[in-house]
Amino acid sequence: MIPVKEALNQILESIPVLNLEKVGILDALGRVAGEDIVAHRNIPPKDNSAMDGYALHWDDTIGAEPDHPVSLDVIEDIPAGKIPERAVGGGQASKIMTGAPIPEGADAVVKVEDTRADGHKVRIFCEAQYGQDIRKAGEDVRQGEIVIAHGSIIRPAEVGMLASLGRSIVSVHQRPVVAIIATGDELVDIDEIPSPWKIISSNSYATAAQVGEAGGIPLLLGIAKDTRADLVEKFNAAERADIVVTSGGVSMGDYDLVKVVMNEIGNAMRFWQVAMRPGKPLAYGNIRGIPLFGLPGNPVSSMISFEQFVRPTILKMSGHVKIFRKTIRARIMEDYDKKPRLVNFVRGRVSGSDGNWQVTTTGEQGSGILKSMVKANGLIVLPEEISSVKAGDVVAVQLLEDANDGAMEPAYLQRLS
Ligand code: AMP
Ligand code: MG
Repeated sequence: MIPVKEALNQILESIPVLNLEKVGILDALGRVAGEDIVAHRNIPPKDNSAMDGYALHWDDTIGAEPDHPVSLDVIEDIPAGKIPERAVGGGQASKIMTGAPIPEGADAVVKVEDTRADGHKVRIFCEAQYGQDIRKAGEDVRQGEIVIAHGSIIRPAEVGMLASLGRSIVSVHQRPVVAIIATGDELVDIDEIPSPWKIISSNSYATAAQVGEAGGIPLLLGIAKDTRADLVEKFNAAERADIVVTSGGVSMGDYDLVKVVMNEIGNAMRFWQVAMRPGKPLAYGNIRGIPLFGLPGNPVSSMISFEQFVRPTILKMSGHVKIFRKTIRARIMEDYDKKPRLVNFVRGRVSGSDGNWQVTTTGEQGSGILKSMVKANGLIVLPEEISSVKAGDVVAVQLLEDANDGAMEPAYLQRLS
């Protein structure tokens, strides 16, 4: 049996970052940029107007005020997208719309609210500053500038930036394909009608969902019977995957064959059993160079082991640098006796707000009680050395979700008392 930290180190040190692939920018959402994105043009490409108004020479407006407007000749109308045809000279102005290119000669824009059209002339009611309401070429992005660095996560803003540079395709790190194999003679698949002594392989789906949530690609390989031949066949079917995850068959039972088969295939097991609860029987190794996680069969153990070990593996492979869930400190609202010498991951429900988090357990903590996982939004992590906590103690909680606030309005609108 090895400590959680040691297990994580052993796993992560051997995990490679996957190669790159080119994808459409919308498919890149949430993924990690595999190249520096360098602007090949200025954005905006040309000086343009920030207002609907008149482009003019600022010094023509000196002394202008509501009672003493300056009158200028309007020489052109420049809607957005039109190329100005005439240079603006002294005593002249061009009518201009927001986003339209600034005509030659003009060095300021006066917004329409400060003007009045008067036939072929316009009256300007206030002084302009040099450069006023002109968006300079390259003010957002300068040609040659790195706007998205290799390793950044592509979010909607990055998608917009790529689009503004005319990039419809971007290089990102590949998403790992995670082969998922359930094991157990008692299992049937979701669409079979289970006889009373059979159970549905819920782990296959919970694991696939966890894979998807972490950004991996789940490959459901079905259920292996508790025979060597069947397991070997499934392992063979997984040979193109980046990660293999099995569930069940890693305990002490007569039919727990995952470890046996792992060791038959080229001495593939690196360790078995981690000092945690639930999830102690985790087996980890490599088959033909592919990391293999033998997760325990109990549904909660399987999910929690996945959270601790497989999720960071998927994130690392996908090129992410931040690969662990956020952990907060919260006040536990009840006494809790834990299993000593093992890190306990206790399903909990966090509430409150920054600096004042509270957490309660979600009830019965048996490793087959999936309902307590459904109720949980975090895992209370109690270290090996302690044997209990008391109501009011501060504990670490690993958040399982980045939840939205349930308030009736955004929290920033609520008065801070
Ligand atoms: P095992 O470690 O194979 O003995 O499995 C431990 C417990 O987890 C048993 O009660 C199994 O029925 C249950 N179990 C194993 N695999 C799955 C699965 N794929 N889905 C749901 N429960 C499972
Ligand atoms: Mg089994």
